[in-house]
Amino acid sequence: MFGPIRIRIAAAFVVLLAATWVATAALPLIVAIGFAVVVAAVLTLAVSTSIISPISRAIEVARRIAGGIRQERVTPRPSGEIGDLADAFNEMAQSLDQLIAAASEDHTRMLAALNSSADAVIALDEHDSIAFANAAAGHLLSERYQDMVGKPLAWSMPDAQVVEAVHSSRRLGEPQNVVAERPNRRFLEVTITPIIGGGEWASLMVLHDISEVRRAEHIRRDFVANVSHELRTPLAAVKSVIDTLNAGAIEDTTTARDFLSRADAELDRLVAMVEELLQLSRIESGERSLAFEDLAVDELISGAVNRLRLEAEKQGLSITIDVQPLTPPIKADRDLLESALVNLIQNSVKYTPRGGSIEVSARAEDGIVTVDISDTGEGIDPTDLPRVFERFYKADRARRAGGTGLGLAIVKHTAEAHGGTIKAESHLGKGSTFSLSIPVRPMDRGSGD
Ligand code: ADP
Repeated sequence: MFGPIRIRIAAAFVVLLAATWVATAALPLIVAIGFAVVVAAVLTLAVSTSIISPISRAIEVARRIAGGIRQERVTPRPSGEIGDLADAFNEMAQSLDQLIAAASEDHTRMLAALNSSADAVIALDEHDSIAFANAAAGHLLSERYQDMVGKPLAWSMPDAQVVEAVHSSRRLGEPQNVVAERPNRRFLEVTITPIIGGGEWASLMVLHDISEVRRAEHIRRDFVANVSHELRTPLAAVKSVIDTLNAGAIEDTTTARDFLSRADAELDRLVAMVEELLQLSRIESGERSLAFEDLAVDELISGAVNRLRLEAEKQGLSITIDVQPLTPPIKADRDLLESALVNLIQNSVKYTPRGGSIEVSARAEDGIVTVDISDTGEGIDPTDLPRVFERFYKADRARRAGGTGLGLAIVKHTAEAHGGTIKAESHLGKGSTFSLSIPVRPMDRGSGD
């Protein structure tokens, strides 16, 4: 017990000594430190409110702008140089906002222009996926254009040569052109242009449906081939007549006359064909403008029938007319319509064997007058029937009858020029009926279609 009391006294003595020292020597030091701490705290608070807070606020605003809230600004304006910095920051944010607005307006305008373009446009990314497709592209490829975006091009156009052209356009850095064949004999011309600096757009494709152009080219080639063929036959016949006459037949008057009449018939065919071709091209090109006038249907029909009655009687054919009472007059081109009727009746005369009959009847329904030309002739094979209105089309047996194959094509164009139609029904060995329908008034043209 004695020991610890001594220690306690010693300790108390040390504390007393220390207190005395603090009270005398260290007090100013402590006061100085305390003062320094207070000054530091005040300074920190000042720096924090005038510098750090505005900077943190600016950082926060910058983050919000980056996050898409473009109208954010540093407010309230801090004072002093930090305020200048905030002003500069706000100006930068303002011009950035204007730049972004202008760019997005340009983008929207470009997309609107591409979307409303009649040309089909597709943009591809560098992996050949569709980054953009307009409505026309969707229509052309029979897909919803919105569904095409993000999918590989090959899903919409599985044509190897198109994909190959995309790659070679990028490799060569120049546009490439290919024609892709689609189902149902449709042809698309595809122009692929590489885009340099187009962001995610690496190539631009423009597609055109050239099926009609191809079809027209095909028809034109067929037409030229047909015309050449049809002209060559009578020309060759005339040439051989001349050769035969030259070779001595001219000395024999009877033979010479016979050959000359054959040449004459061939030349008649040639002249008829050239005239029909000219007539067809004039109607088709619109060069022959229609002279509309009110035509009484019964008069029109009897005019046409009278031109052929003699020929029909010579072939032992009866020909009758049956026009429904109160059939209204039609506004049409007299010459064109009469020659169409003559063409149809002449065919009936040509393709109906002796003893047969022909009836020309007319009726009106819903503002359309239909003239039916029916015969009890040889009829038309079902495989030929859909093609008889094509130029130069002749059923095989008809080739022997020496027609040009242009008559029904002219009738079809005449009907269409009046806004009407021509149809044929036929039963092989029993006869045919051709129905020519013309609207009563020209303004009704095609309204029923
Ligand atoms: P064509 O000068 O050969 O008569 P068309 O164009 O007038 O030319 O007729 C085309 C083909 O249609 C004819 O070759 C014939 O085969 C067939 N045809 C037209 N009208 C008749 C008809 N009334 N009866 C049978 N066949 C017909």
